[in-house]
Amino acid sequence: MIAFTVFILVGLWFAQIVLLGNFHYWNIKNRMAENAYRLAMDVGDADFEKTIEDIAENGEACVVVYRIEEETVSVIYNYEESPSCMVHRLDSAVVKDISENASGDGGLLQIRLSDLIKEWEKDGGTPVKKPSTDRLLTVLVVSGTDGQYMLFLDAALFPVESTVGTLRYQLIYISIALFLVATILSFILSSYIASPIEHITEKSKKLPRGEYQMDANVRSYREIEELSETLSHAADEISKVDRLQKELIANISHDLRTPLTMIIGYGEVMRDIEGENTPENVQVIIDEATRLSSLVNDLLEISRIQGGDIERHDEVFDFSALMHETVERYRRLKENSGFVFTDAIEDHIVVKADKSKILQVVYNLINNAINYSMESRKVHIRLYSIGAKMHFDVVDYGVGIAAEDLENIWQRYYKVDKIHRRSSSGSGLGLSIVREILDLHGARYGVQSKLGMGSTFWFELPLYEEEENKLLLD
Ligand code: ADP
Repeated sequence: MIAFTVFILVGLWFAQIVLLGNFHYWNIKNRMAENAYRLAMDVGDADFEKTIEDIAENGEACVVVYRIEEETVSVIYNYEESPSCMVHRLDSAVVKDISENASGDGGLLQIRLSDLIKEWEKDGGTPVKKPSTDRLLTVLVVSGTDGQYMLFLDAALFPVESTVGTLRYQLIYISIALFLVATILSFILSSYIASPIEHITEKSKKLPRGEYQMDANVRSYREIEELSETLSHAADEISKVDRLQKELIANISHDLRTPLTMIIGYGEVMRDIEGENTPENVQVIIDEATRLSSLVNDLLEISRIQGGDIERHDEVFDFSALMHETVERYRRLKENSGFVFTDAIEDHIVVKADKSKILQVVYNLINNAINYSMESRKVHIRLYSIGAKMHFDVVDYGVGIAAEDLENIWQRYYKVDKIHRRSSSGSGLGLSIVREILDLHGARYGVQSKLGMGSTFWFELPLYEEEENKLLLD
């Protein structure tokens, strides 16, 4: 900002102080040369005198016309526009000298009075008092029908020095004011833009070190405030995932250790103690191994999703038939544990989707319903069509979910029950897998739940088009 101000000021000083004098001199010089040529055109004409008056008044110059004869130079017209004109006071020898110089110069000669005086004194002339303002003498020697004439114009070079002096004075004030404004502006800009950005940068640098405290209340321009808010939001999200991931590692290591300890323990008991090789004990080992296997599957699935390795392989399939089979399978699996699976499955619901992924969604939802149904031990599965869509939901009558947890449960690693309990030994990944798969299908999904009353998890998929369906079945 200050560099820019200095640049502007240097430009101003150069233009106003250095160039002004030269520009002014060049302008008057051109004008006087033009006037001299205009006058030359009228030499000998009837309105010659009028032209002289006109030029003298408009050009603010004294005009003298000489006639040059053999040895003498005599005045034939004289117009004194200003008493400070020098031309009337020139020594006739000087006038003669000038006329010779002008003729030798191709007719036109323009010289500053100050330079003329300098030359005069150099050539040994008596010292002359310099006028207060310098003057420009323009001399044009022309040939008329009856001999040679010398047109002499004497114009003031306006007091450029005093103008420059005033300007310089003005510019000093302007420079000081500009410097002050630039300094204040730089200060405001730096405190309003640079400082907040530095602040945000500093905070951002700490993110990789696990320091997620970003200050969202940065006061600056809207864009910077937005940047700060976005970063602080991102930092919040990262810190959440980071915390959940740490919890997950703690939980998973516990989850892995518990079944492993059980398997080893039961295995050893069955090996070492006679009569302990009972089907119940074998079932414990099978259950624990199943738990381990589902945990590992979840982890593999989520790591695949995290790696962006999730693709849809759509096929047309009868969702109703798949649901009948699935519910049957669950009934058989939980036969002995007193679980009741009721269903209301509408027939011939056909969809086009990634069958194995949608089945995984169904499994995750039913498993959750079983895990969180507690003493009620009842799960209800519904499938029906509405308009061009099918609606699937799983209803349980268990623990339910508190309103404040509802939007978080879809997040990776989120578990409502932070204190690890065997009854809720999930990985915290099931619903985030559900979310990824349903998002991949562009499906609508959601949950209704009330703490202590149970939950209903649902999703919707478009029905497969009728005509296409018929064609396929034919
Ligand atoms: P988890 O493997 O822990 O079940 P999920 O991602 O499947 O992980 O679910 C996240 C959390 O949502 C669970 O820890 C649980 O607290 C809650 N939740 C999921 N399904 C239900 C349900 N049917 N009833 C009550 N709470 C549920």
